[in-house]
Amino acid sequence: MFSYRHAFHAGNHADVLKHAVLIATLQHLTTKEAALTVLDTHAGAGLYRLDGDYARTSAEADAGVLRLAAQADTGTLAPLLQDYLDLVRSFNPGAHIRIYPGSPFILQKLLRPNDRLKLFELHPTDLRALAGNVAQLQAGRQVAVLQEDGFAGLRRFLPPPSRRALVLCDPSYEIKSDYARVPEMLQDALKRFATGTYAVWYPIIPRPEAHDLPRRLKAQALRAGRNWLHATLTVRAGGGPRPGLGASGMFLVNPPHTLHAALQQALPQMVELLGQDRNAAHTLEAGG
Ligand code: SAM
Repeated sequence: MFSYRHAFHAGNHADVLKHAVLIATLQHLTTKEAALTVLDTHAGAGLYRLDGDYARTSAEADAGVLRLAAQADTGTLAPLLQDYLDLVRSFNPGAHIRIYPGSPFILQKLLRPNDRLKLFELHPTDLRALAGNVAQLQAGRQVAVLQEDGFAGLRRFLPPPSRRALVLCDPSYEIKSDYARVPEMLQDALKRFATGTYAVWYPIIPRPEAHDLPRRLKAQALRAGRNWLHATLTVRAGGGPRPGLGASGMFLVNPPHTLHAALQQALPQMVELLGQDRNAAHTLEAGG
């Protein structure tokens, strides 16, 4: 079984990038009246304690969401980062951020009553936590928790009845086959539902499969004649004596047209605030 637990990483720089992109994307998609189906193929536990043992082991949130929060107290944040922080704070009644919402709770917070959220999770412990957390929302039919392989399970929901969908694909890449399954999933999904918005997170690590993944996704988007957007955030050089991830990326097919401008403002500030060495940088490209 998998050993990856997102609780060790919740609120780190990669979550800041991924969740800020998600927020901007959903903010746009929910401006149109028709109902939206959101599918989170790798959901995790849904809520994380930043003062719990898991998070304190690596203290990754200190250099992620908590650093942004400290900045917000002394300066101005780009609108997207402010929205991200406001959303995280909405889960924390006091002044301190102790609870970090994972993608299921970020997504659910932005949905309207007629929208639907399908959450896939395979790890038994995270699944139990997710099901318990979702039950407290009392969201009824709006949210479904599925103990299924998200790559395969996605298929039967595409195309969605409302013909509008956002898919988040955020595997742990703990097993090498994830790097192949992401483009396989995208190819199949684009055949079933070419106009859906697809968002893929991936780690930037010195591994050929990781390096090739955004190139493969871009080639697929181009072949399908769809618009795409690719954003990366590097906070420090990878490898070296300090363990942990130094950089990650988000690749979107059919991104909202407003996303590029929002990221153009937010990404330089992420670099400025979250950067840890002189390798800190961002990239932002789009095409179609
Ligand atoms: N998306 C979450 C967030 O942003 O808060 C974090 C997800 S974490 C990176 C990846 C999760 O996928 C883990 O909880 C892992 O147990 C789960 N997982 C791994 N393989 C899976 C699969 N094939 N289908 C569904 N879930 C899977």
